[in-house]
Amino acid sequence: MKRRFIKIIGLSLLSFCLMPYKLLYSATKRIINQNLTKEQKKILFNEGTERPFTSSLLHEKRAGFYHCVNCDAKLFNSNTKYDSGTGWPSFTEALPGAFKTKVDYSFGMKRTEYHCAKCGAHHGHVFEDGPGESGKRFCNNGLCLIFKPSN
Ligand SMILES: [Zn+2]
Repeated sequence: MKRRFIKIIGLSLLSFCLMPYKLLYSATKRIINQNLTKEQKKILFNEGTERPFTSSLLHEKRAGFYHCVNCDAKLFNSNTKYDSGTGWPSFTEALPGAFKTKVDYSFGMKRTEYHCAKCGAHHGHVFEDGPGESGKRFCNNGLCLIFKPSN
């Protein structure tokens, strides 16, 4: 009985101490673009995934940059984009400092999730089977990106 009580007190103390970090983390995730659709918000802020082969960006081949749909941060150069056959826009490399990664264990798999470094929004997962020199495959939800052609 006493032990259980100590455990409960300990756990509540612990969560109390962790609260500022939790708040800090959620504060870094914020809606900047007020015109986001429900589907975009689900992916960006609730770690959702769009259905494969639905993104219009899959066929985008022009030169330019891909930006975060929420905060407009520049994330990918079009020269790192390739067709991975997965049905999601894929890149071999992100621009330096564009993302922060976090290991995700959902669906019983260990995957590395990445978030926009500027606004904290979820974009996709990065895998180690890319065809480029980096060996990386950034699998990005098309709905999270805005493409801006160079000319
Ligand atoms: Zn962003």
